[in-house]
Amino acid sequence: MSESQTNAAAAKPSLSVVIPVYNEEANLPALLERTLAACRAIGCPFEIVLANDGSRDKSGEILAKAAAEHPEVVAVFLNRNYGQHNATFAGYAHASGDFIVNIDADLQNPPEEIHKIYEKLAAGHDVVAGRRMHRQDSPLRKIPSWVVNRMIRKSTGVDMHDYGCMLRGYTRAVVQAMLSCEERTPFIPVLANSFASNPCEVDVAHAERFAGESRYSFLKLVNLQFDMLTGMTTAPLRALSFAGLGVFLIGLALSAYIVVMRIRLGDAWTNDGVFTLFAVLFFLVGAQFLGMGLLGEYIGRIFKNVGARPRYLIQQIKGKSPLK
Ligand code: UDP
Ligand code: MG
Repeated sequence: MSESQTNAAAAKPSLSVVIPVYNEEANLPALLERTLAACRAIGCPFEIVLANDGSRDKSGEILAKAAAEHPEVVAVFLNRNYGQHNATFAGYAHASGDFIVNIDADLQNPPEEIHKIYEKLAAGHDVVAGRRMHRQDSPLRKIPSWVVNRMIRKSTGVDMHDYGCMLRGYTRAVVQAMLSCEERTPFIPVLANSFASNPCEVDVAHAERFAGESRYSFLKLVNLQFDMLTGMTTAPLRALSFAGLGVFLIGLALSAYIVVMRIRLGDAWTNDGVFTLFAVLFFLVGAQFLGMGLLGEYIGRIFKNVGARPRYLIQQIKGKSPLK
């Protein structure tokens, strides 16, 4: 870089790219190369913070090597697997740029799209969300995600379309606010929106996973959707009260009907009505279980938050940020 270029770079706000990594050895070489190139092209001071979420493959070695080779690379090693969002938090805690941009390690978010997020942040937006064009996932992933996105949009009142897209950018202030949150089951895109004063969306490309399978099992995915929903709003609890009221009123009407019919038609009718009663019973029991399950979801989260355990444990850090 010539001196004039260095000066121009210094004038631009600095950038931290935060990447959670879990068993991504096959993706890391291409990821590092493309992300480094994409950040250099932006022409601002930058660092790449990779949080190794307890990978059991060679990811750790590759990251340690990259941190030794490239001054811009910082590798944060967690001592075991804490999940994507906790690993991302670990990355945030060690990121020192003015702007912080997230991407996935599997190259589903092309690093070449980072500049779009950077430009929006530089234009004064504090939360910039990528919106995946031509999303490359199976309908099994897309349909639940469509439903949950709609629910979040309705209940948070923030009109964003793609909460599953991890290609997102935040200002330092928003990241600091997130880091000061105590919750143990964070869902970052939703959490960030609660601090956004000027959010926006940009269309970004989405690719197929470069190598390997999704690191999310079906169960992990279901858990994530619950984190996303309950992390932000207690609206489902209110919906539960309304549903309860509805079921109660129906039950009341039916009982009145049964009493009236019995008085008018006598005992014989009640015998025939046994099945109606069963139907009502099943309905009520079902509604109760649904409600209890939902209450349990919140109580479980209260339980976790009261414990306030650390989100993760850092084993070691390789590389030193050029931004510090
Ligand atoms: N990931 C992680 N810890 C986990 C699971 C995933 O750090 O326990 C990382 C993973 O390495 C990737 C990102 O989170 O960088 C998204 O994971 P994946 O691509 O498997 O999710 P999907 O694209 O299927 O939603
Ligand atoms: Mg992926």
